[in-house]
Amino acid sequence: MNAVPELFHAKEACCGCGACLNICPANAITMQEDEGGFIYPVINTERCIRCGCCKTVCAFQNREETNSPIECFAAVSTDEDRAKKSASAGIFAAIALSVLKEGGIVYGAAFDELWGVHHIGIEDETTLEKLQGSKYAHSNTERTFSEAKKQLQTGRKVLYSGTPCQIAGFKEYLGKEYENLITVDIVCHGVPSVRMLKDYLRLLEEKHGGKVEQFTFRDKSIGWGINGCAVINGKKVTIWQSASSYLYYFTKGWIYRENCYTCKYACEYRPADLTIGDYWGIEKQHPEFLGKNGWDETAGISLLIANTRKGADAIEEYETVIDLKESTFSQMAAGNAQLRAPSQIEKRDEIVKEYVEEGWKGLEKGYKAQIGYRRYSSQIKSLLPAKLKRQLKKHFN
Ligand SMILES: Cc1cc2nc3c(=O)[nH]c(=O)nc-3n(C[C@H](O)[C@H](O)[C@H](O)COP(=O)(O)OP(=O)(O)OC[C@H]3O[C@@H](n4cnc5c(N)ncnc54)[C@H](O)[C@@H]3O)c2cc1C
Ligand code: SF4
Ligand code: SF4
Ligand code: SF4
Repeated sequence: MNAVPELFHAKEACCGCGACLNICPANAITMQEDEGGFIYPVINTERCIRCGCCKTVCAFQNREETNSPIECFAAVSTDEDRAKKSASAGIFAAIALSVLKEGGIVYGAAFDELWGVHHIGIEDETTLEKLQGSKYAHSNTERTFSEAKKQLQTGRKVLYSGTPCQIAGFKEYLGKEYENLITVDIVCHGVPSVRMLKDYLRLLEEKHGGKVEQFTFRDKSIGWGINGCAVINGKKVTIWQSASSYLYYFTKGWIYRENCYTCKYACEYRPADLTIGDYWGIEKQHPEFLGKNGWDETAGISLLIANTRKGADAIEEYETVIDLKESTFSQMAAGNAQLRAPSQIEKRDEIVKEYVEEGWKGLEKGYKAQIGYRRYSSQIKSLLPAKLKRQLKKHFN
């Protein structure tokens, strides 16, 4: 008899996409949290019938991407109100609405009432808001791969969205092309665990003396950037990127899943039909798109890439709801590091170890010490004469 498979030899080989869990005919796989709250598939050896399906379905370990950009655009949604609730320019919502209007179903990441992050399917416009906006933590795809497959088999139009590793996992799970499927991946620099996010929000609640009633990582009312906001006791609290321990560790890239540092999707080879992201650096690449007669940069500008012929055809259909201007992959990648290479691992292991031992309170303390030191050193630097600063720089470099 075959042995029970080893799903991954090291954590860096598993992105937690859930394809193995979805395909298992014996229901023998569950996702379980490790000490940092990151979820990994675990096999119940008593239930396992040793069929090996879970090993062959793993795209993260077995499959190389071959799709590369066919068309690249800078893009904004024509529906400004919806775009305000999105992270960049509301491209996802515009595509999702088109699919919903055709009677389709849309899958993506949503918060639950306790700020967990899961993939869900939505079937009408009123619930679309749940999928809008970036949730900067790992979304559990649950059983949405098998649910979406059932929908596809009925002939219904399906839009499945997520990180590139989730889309690659989903496609490998399906095992064949479906005409009625359109997939969207986001440019992605890595995911912290949901436990980290919940611990951070708990600290916020302690600080402000109440429950977090609403939360978003990207508050567009203060412009296009990585500043969020929460509503606590009915009051709005702005989460500035420069003053939040979570956004500090997240943007430094020190709290992601282990596999994110060797991510094979941080490049032009993408698994989905369409890729969406922030068009960071557009003011340098396309100043002609902005300004008086162009787009308002503060409202957010997206990048949109068609990686397949199906994606390119879909974009033609969306031209009434998305304002498009041609660009190139190299212009997009110039300002978006995640289109060029994965995040650097740097202090990741040290910081995650600290989190495991001391919780988010420990990381908050470390963050305050860092910020205090940075403020102090920049004050000292500002007091030094320019000539002395240049000499010191030369000496220490
Ligand atoms: C963890 C993470 C890292 C990112 N890193 C970058 C980056 O480095 N550079 C960049 O240009 N853009 C990045 N993005 C994408 C960016 O924040 C926007 O999501 C993207 O520009 C789409 O914006 P939108 O206005 O069209 O749609 P929005 O309404 O903002 O986005 C909704 C879409 O995001 C998906 N989504 C949201 N949270 C998650 C999640 N946790 N897991 C899987 N899918 C999710 C939804 O399923 C939906 O498809 C990241 C997003 C996430 C979630
Ligand atoms: S299929 Fe996905 S969850 Fe399963 S081992 Fe591979 S990467 Fe991990
Ligand atoms: S070998 Fe088959 S039964 Fe066992 S866990 Fe993998 S998919 Fe499930
Ligand atoms: S960085 Fe890569 S491996 Fe990590 S969540 Fe994003 S797509 Fe997946």
